[in-house]
Amino acid sequence: MIENGLAPILDGNAAAGLLQDIFVPEITTAQIQCAACGSAAAVGSLRMYAVPMGAVLRCTHCDGVLMRAVHTPVGRWLEMSGARYLRF
Ligand SMILES: [Zn+2]
Repeated sequence: MIENGLAPILDGNAAAGLLQDIFVPEITTAQIQCAACGSAAAVGSLRMYAVPMGAVLRCTHCDGVLMRAVHTPVGRWLEMSGARYLRF
């Protein structure tokens, strides 16, 4: 685990439980492409910033935000505007 002074930083595998609640297939092996730099990688290889309500997953090449996943009292939310695609 890496500390940035604000939130613990883990790899994308640490988000597996949260993301598996959203996706039925194995999410950590799915390929995701960064909209900012075009690099593609497995979701499990992304850098995870743990936040109180969920996770922010960032590109390991350009640090762009690829996914935000949170669990709130009114539902589970997934925002992926920083990704071009997610391939299972
Ligand atoms: Zn990137």
